[in-house]
Amino acid sequence: MLNLLKTHFGFDRFLPLQEEIIRWVLAGKDALVLMPTGGGKSLCYQLPALMMPGLTLVISPLIALMKDQVDSLKANGIPAEFINSTLSYAAINKIQRQAQAEGIKILYAAPERLILPEFQHFLKKIKVSLMAIDESHCISEWGHDFRPDYRNLKMLRDIFPEVPALALTATATQKVREDIISQLSLDQAKIFISSFNRPNLAYTVLPKKDSYDQLIELLRRHQNEAAIIYCFSRKDTEHLAADLRNEGFKALSYHAGLEGEARRTNQEKFIRDEVQIIVATIAFGMGIDKPDVRLVIHYSLPKSIEGYYQETGRAGRDGLPSQCVLFYSYADSIKQQYFIRQIEDETERKNTYRKLEQMVEYCELATCRRHHLLSYFGEDDQPEKCQGCDVCLSTEEEFDATKISQKIISAIIRTGGRFGLGYIIDVLRGAKNKKILERDHHKLSVYGIVNDFSKEDLRHIISQLISRKLIIKGGDEYPILELSPRGRDFLKQREKICLPKLKSSVQSPQPSEALATEYDMELFEKLRLLRKKIADEKRVPPFVVFGDLALRQMALYLPQSEEKFSRISGVGEEKLKQYGQVFTEVIQTYARENNLREKDIPVKRSATPRRLSHLGPTYQETKKLLLKKKSIEEMARMRSLSVGTIAAHIEKLVRSGEKIDLGYLRPPVEKFKEIKAAFQKIGGTALSPVREMLGGQVSYEELRIARLLIKS
Ligand code: ADP
Ligand code: MG
Ligand code: ZN
Repeated sequence: MLNLLKTHFGFDRFLPLQEEIIRWVLAGKDALVLMPTGGGKSLCYQLPALMMPGLTLVISPLIALMKDQVDSLKANGIPAEFINSTLSYAAINKIQRQAQAEGIKILYAAPERLILPEFQHFLKKIKVSLMAIDESHCISEWGHDFRPDYRNLKMLRDIFPEVPALALTATATQKVREDIISQLSLDQAKIFISSFNRPNLAYTVLPKKDSYDQLIELLRRHQNEAAIIYCFSRKDTEHLAADLRNEGFKALSYHAGLEGEARRTNQEKFIRDEVQIIVATIAFGMGIDKPDVRLVIHYSLPKSIEGYYQETGRAGRDGLPSQCVLFYSYADSIKQQYFIRQIEDETERKNTYRKLEQMVEYCELATCRRHHLLSYFGEDDQPEKCQGCDVCLSTEEEFDATKISQKIISAIIRTGGRFGLGYIIDVLRGAKNKKILERDHHKLSVYGIVNDFSKEDLRHIISQLISRKLIIKGGDEYPILELSPRGRDFLKQREKICLPKLKSSVQSPQPSEALATEYDMELFEKLRLLRKKIADEKRVPPFVVFGDLALRQMALYLPQSEEKFSRISGVGEEKLKQYGQVFTEVIQTYARENNLREKDIPVKRSATPRRLSHLGPTYQETKKLLLKKKSIEEMARMRSLSVGTIAAHIEKLVRSGEKIDLGYLRPPVEKFKEIKAAFQKIGGTALSPVREMLGGQVSYEELRIARLLIKS
C-alpha cells in the first residue's frame, strides 16, 4: 500500500486513520468517515479504487469540484472521469462506453443522475466495486448544506446491495451523523472519527480598531498567497474588494447576489491563482477545494461557532501553516442583534441569539481558543494550551533584542541603506547569493553574523523596529530599509530594547518548521511561475500540477537528479515523468547561479527506501506481464496505467538489472533501423529531437523501448 501511495500519489506516509479506513474498505465493509477538512478523505476511496477490480463510483454534490478532482487524478496517471450536466450527451456516452470496457477506475457522478433511467441502466451494466458518498452530510436536513438529490442515494443501495459503501463528511454533529446512517442504511458500518483539531491553523482575534490598516498590513505580509475575507453584507464585499484593488491587490468579490456567470469566473480566477483575494459573504467556499488558502479573515463577526469553524477550515487544507484572523468589536454583535430581533419564530430567534452569544464568548476568551473550539465540538480531552492561538502566544514575555537590533541596523548602514528586507536578511545570515557576491558584501563584517534567528524571526524583528521608527521603509516600487535619526541614536547611545517574544508562526508537528519558513523564497517564486505556466497550458488549476508543499520542499532541498526529485512529497511516477525534467532544470540553473547545493531529503518512510535493484510490487506486476509478452498497450489497459507509465516501468526494470527479453517489443525492422540511425545522428539519449527528426511518426513509448534495445 505504501508503494501505491508513492507511485500514484507521491506521498510517503498515511495521514491519521487513512490506513485503517483503507484496510476496512478493502475488506468489503461499509464505513462512515468523519474527518475535518483537509484530513485526506479522498484518498480513503481513491487508493482502494486502484486495488479493487472494476470501478469505484463517487457521488459528489459539487459539479465544479468534480472536474478538479478528476484532473488531479489524471495528472497522477489514474484513469478517472466524471458525469454531470456540464457534459454533452455524446461525451457522457463515450465515458459510459469506456466504463463498460473497464477503462475507468474512478467515476464521479452528480446525485441527480441517479434517478435517470438511462443512468440506472448503465450502472447495471458495469462492475462497481465500491461506492463513495463524499460530503455525505448533504443527505441530512439537519446539516448546513442539504441537497434533496442526495435522497436518491437510497436507490443506489438497492441497485447494488452487495457493494460496500463509504460515506465521508467533515460535519461532526450527532444528529447529522445519525441521519446519514439511517438514510444510507449504514447500520453495519464502522464509524471512523478523527480529531477535528487543525494543528496547522493559527487562530487570532484582533480588536476591530484601525482594522483597515491592520488588514492591509496583514495582506502585505501574505503577498502572493491566497486569502479569503468574509464580510457581513454583499455591499461590504464589493466596497472592500474595490478598496483593496485601489491599494494594488488583486481582489474580487463573491456573494449570492452576483450573476451565475460572474460568480463562476471570480471563483475560477481565484482557483487558478490569477486573483489572490476573494472578499465574500459566507456563500463562498462551498464550491471550492483550493488547498493552498493561507489566510482566512473574518472582517465581521461570524454568526455561529459552527460557521466560523467551517469558514476557517478552508485555510490550509494542504497542511501548511495558515492563519485565521477575526476582527472583533462588540458593536458588530449589536448590529447582528438588531437583525435577530426581526426573526418572528421564537425558537429560531432564541437559537440564533444563543449562537451569537457563543461567538462573542469565543472572541472575548482569555483562555486557549483552540481548546474552546474543540470542546465545543465535544473533544474534551485536548490540551488546555496550544502553540497556535493569540491567547496562548501572547502570554509569553518580552526578550532582550538589543544585540540583534544592533546587528540589523549595522547591516543597513554597512550596505549603504540601499537595500530591501530580503537582502539585508540574506547578508546577515550569510547567504551565498549572487548579488551579494557581486557587490562584495560577503566581505563586510556583518556578513553571516546571525545564525540564531530564522528568516521569519528576522522579518518579524525588523517589522517591530519599523513600527518603533528605528528603521524607515523608503523607496516606492521596491521598498528599501533606511535608518531614522532615532535608529542612529539607538546605536550611538547603546540603548537597550525589548521586543515581544517571537511567535514562531504556527507550530505543528508536521510539516517541519523548516518548510514553514526556511525555504528559498526566490526559487519558490520561480517554481510557482513555472507551475502556473504549465497549469495554464493544460487548463487545470495550478495545484493539480504540484501543491505548495511540493514546491516548498523543492525550494528547500534543491533536488537536481531524477532520484532526488522523486522523493519530494506529491511526486509520484506520472508527475516525475511529466514534470521532473522541467522543474529540475529550473532548480539546477538557480542553484548554479547562487552557489547552492542539493540538500539531503530526510527519508520519513517506514518502509526501506526505494532502491533501483529492489523495485516495488507495481514494477513486479509489469514484469509479470512482460514475461507473458503482452504489448505495451495491453499492459496499460490491464493495469489501468498510461502507456507512458508502462514504458517508464520497463526502463526502470531494465536499468535495475532485471533480465527480461524485450525483443518482442522491437518495432518492425525498417522502422527500428531508422530510429537507430536517428539516435546515432543526434547523439545522446534525448527523445524529442529524435522524434522530431523522424517527423513525429514514432511515439515516445516506441522510442523509449527502442533506446533500450539499441543499448543492449
Ligand atoms: P478532505 O476531503 O478530507 O478535505 P482531501 O482529500 O482534499 O481532504 O486532502 C487534503 C490534502 O491532503 C490534499 O492536498 C491531499 O493531496 C493531501 N493528502 C492526502 N493524503 C495525504 C498523505 N497521505 N500524505 C500527504 N498529503 C496527503
Ligand atoms: Mg473532500
Ligand atoms: Zn491556544
